[in-house]
Amino acid sequence: IMKFNLKNCLSFRIVLLVSCKENKMPDKAKHNTTTIFQQGQKITSDNFTGVAYLQSLVDADSLNTISVGNVTFEPGARSNWHIHPAGQILLVTGGVGYYQEKGQPKKVLHKGDVIKCPPNTPHWHGASKDAAFVQVAITGRNRGATVWLEPVSDREYNEK
Ligand code: MN
Repeated sequence: IMKFNLKNCLSFRIVLLVSCKENKMPDKAKHNTTTIFQQGQKITSDNFTGVAYLQSLVDADSLNTISVGNVTFEPGARSNWHIHPAGQILLVTGGVGYYQEKGQPKKVLHKGDVIKCPPNTPHWHGASKDAAFVQVAITGRNRGATVWLEPVSDREYNEK
């Protein structure tokens, strides 16, 4: 039987504190060990601000008219404003991010959140300022390609 004493009690509490902290937020360095899918390749298009990565998971075909991709945003990174003619579903798998539709306040997203973005609705998504963000994007492909618009300005990004 373990004797109860103050020293055991304190070290037990320290272990608990450490494990709580580790489960909270995957920071940049911890990404690959905490996320589900591969990070993929750095996105080089002009449709993003900051550093983001894309791993394609499913390409659309005649049977499944959706594409599925895993997108990782480093802190502060975000997409431009854009439109999906057939809408999009976002499954948040890690980090802290934002989603905003034109004219609406931005939503703060955490692991487990699901966003249903309606067709032809200007919006953007990306990481929060201090934490990376990982999402699986399921995009309808049977009504045409994504229409890319202007970048999200710092003023828009920092708005509450
Ligand atoms: Mn989108």
